[in-house]
Amino acid sequence: MDPRVEQFMAQLIAKNPNENEFHQAVQEVAESLIPFIEENPKYKHAKVLERIAEPERVILFRVPWLDDKGEIQINKGYRLEMNSAIGPYKGGLRFHPTVNLSILKFLAFEQVLKNSLTTLPMGGGKGGSDFDPKGKSDNEVMRFCQSFMTELCKHIGANTDVPAGDIGVGGREIGYMFGQYKRIRNEFVGVLTGKGIQYGGSLIRPEATGYGAVYFAEEMMKTRGESFKGKTVAVSGSGNVAQYAIEKATQLGGKCVTLSDSAGFIHDPNGIDAEKLAYIMELKNVKRGRIKEYADKYGCEYYEGKRPWGIKCDVALPSATQNEINEEDAKTLVANGCFVVSEGANMPSTPEAVEVYIKNKILYGPGKAANAGGVAVSGLEMSQNSLRLSWTREEVDQRLHQIMKDIHATCEKYGKDSEGFINYVNGANIGGFVKVAEAMLAQGAV
Ligand code: NDP
Repeated sequence: MDPRVEQFMAQLIAKNPNENEFHQAVQEVAESLIPFIEENPKYKHAKVLERIAEPERVILFRVPWLDDKGEIQINKGYRLEMNSAIGPYKGGLRFHPTVNLSILKFLAFEQVLKNSLTTLPMGGGKGGSDFDPKGKSDNEVMRFCQSFMTELCKHIGANTDVPAGDIGVGGREIGYMFGQYKRIRNEFVGVLTGKGIQYGGSLIRPEATGYGAVYFAEEMMKTRGESFKGKTVAVSGSGNVAQYAIEKATQLGGKCVTLSDSAGFIHDPNGIDAEKLAYIMELKNVKRGRIKEYADKYGCEYYEGKRPWGIKCDVALPSATQNEINEEDAKTLVANGCFVVSEGANMPSTPEAVEVYIKNKILYGPGKAANAGGVAVSGLEMSQNSLRLSWTREEVDQRLHQIMKDIHATCEKYGKDSEGFINYVNGANIGGFVKVAEAMLAQGAV
């Protein structure tokens, strides 16, 4: 490791012990940024990197709620307000039993650079709870969301901090939280994004992250004269991001053959077409069932406890969770001919896996670039709320598409090496950093 990165990381780890995911995310960024900062001493003198690795504010609170048996349950609630240099804090809420400070700090840190890349005026934040919506009744989820928002509403606002969804937080949860915010604060404002279309949501917001990851993959493929036509695509996850990644990849001529959840994955060599996708959406979003049921219905293979990376594919769209592709998985993907990885999820590839991609010079779009479409359309939802207008589906989709092209261009600008290879990791890290850093320099020691 570069000794300057090593020294920076030693200080960060000493200040933030036992936060492995946060260390991982910062180190990846530091490896790109430290050489760049050395060439641009104004950022070094102003300690911009040290400052962006320290949250502006961390809010941690108790979330008590009553389950259906009338018993009190207690969860932890969090909001990480990471950086507001270029706009109000913006970033999702995650409800999952694995949620802890380290995971939210990694996500909030990534969010700062991602939001900057979108070209929209949004700072970075993240939040959530160790609450597990799986197996809970609608009423339990509602009571939890109301209790969570009863505290969170003191800290957020349309011009301060605007949360959205993430793992375990979809339209249902956003609706319950929005209702509670409005009730307590007595104001109808765009304080959350991912809202229902009847009460201030944006068309294309549910589709945005998955579509965006596919648009980004398409831009990467264009640099090699390739497209989705006739390509086999492996997708992980089966939630919001995975569903719409499949929809768009299929529309562009790809054949998506896998889907997963935390229990295992399915392999459908015939491809997941529109009809099968409609079944998955009903299964996952309404019945809240398991992906295994897909294999039972369509008579394909289900692999218990496994991830889909052993299946031969041209394109991989990891869309479940962090660290779901390790070094071995990455080697298998490359050996099987995969030449595009576009990350719908946040940090799904371990650092060792990323090394494999870069060494083999495949087209690798890291999450902060490839999945920025979600927060970009959240930004467009904020714009529409401020205007008190709604744009058409076509208009939002066209803006999303343009933003993904612009992010690709930024990555190319900052990530292309002397041999013409685009290192999208460097491109996204440096491209995202510059705008935030310039804003921080202008605003002084804040
Ligand atoms: P959902 O809750 O809709 O779906 C998550 C999917 O991933 C489910 O299939 C879930 O399976 C699976 N999953 C979750 N945790 C694990 C785990 N520990 N191991 C294996 N599988 C797991 O979430 P989203 O689709 O919204 O989010 C997926 C990823 O995309 C996350 O990394 C998120 O941060 C990222 N992302 C999401 C954005 C958005 O707009 N929603 C924006 C940008 C990034 P199961 O049901 O079994 O838990």
